[in-house]
Amino acid sequence: MSDTKVYLLDGGSLVIDGFHAFWNRGPAGELRFPCYAVLIEHKDGRYIFDTGYDHAHVMRVLPFEKPLQTPDQTIPGALAKLNLRPKDINFVINSHYHFDHCGGNKHLTHACTVCHAKELEAARHPQPFEHLGYSDATFSPELVKARGQKLPPDPALDIYTPKFETISGDQEIAKGMWLYETPGHTAGHYSLMVELANRRPLLFTADACYSKKNMDMMVISSFHLDPVASVQSLVRLKELATKHDAELFYSHDPESWPGYIKAPGYYS
Ligand SMILES: [Zn+2]
Repeated sequence: MSDTKVYLLDGGSLVIDGFHAFWNRGPAGELRFPCYAVLIEHKDGRYIFDTGYDHAHVMRVLPFEKPLQTPDQTIPGALAKLNLRPKDINFVINSHYHFDHCGGNKHLTHACTVCHAKELEAARHPQPFEHLGYSDATFSPELVKARGQKLPPDPALDIYTPKFETISGDQEIAKGMWLYETPGHTAGHYSLMVELANRRPLLFTADACYSKKNMDMMVISSFHLDPVASVQSLVRLKELATKHDAELFYSHDPESWPGYIKAPGYYS
């Protein structure tokens, strides 16, 4: 394989309230934002960082987020457009286990699943106010059992038993691919920086920063475990971007999203 390539896989969109996107700041009102997965073609294998949401899960558990997702915006659909199948993916890295970042994991049955050790523990025993965020555990029957829940009755849900690899601390998980600890939004949240041959590094904030507006205003979202750590992670991302001359890619940014190159286009 040649130079590393990075593809953004459009995963559709969701709606939340403006006061949730911009905690204690707003303005209130429906805010529709994009969700996406990041595919990295690296000489060591194919990696996916986050996998978007599962439409059926959102309709069942959080229909008020009004999911809009076409078949091409599912993980199998987006990969098919690149002539790839789910089993071609070697590693799944989850920034965290909120439902809109792990909903496509269950399709990637041949991949090793990588996450922060604290994140797996948090997904096992979420705080009461985190239950909706951590509501999609279809990628791990063990997790569902640990929570004392029953597996969904629908066999078509195709419960997936992952090979977990938990890590902690900042890590270069493959040459030029860096995971940085950015906790606060959740216990074991990671952001990802990818160095490329022909341009500035890409720094994917994941939910440590939803949008450029959050960064510019230094305002976190209302979904968080620890608001003070969340603000510190915003500061950390800004410093990392400066230090590495990296371009920030936000997780849920309706204003920045149109300017990002989407698959089948790529960054290299
Ligand atoms: Zn999240």
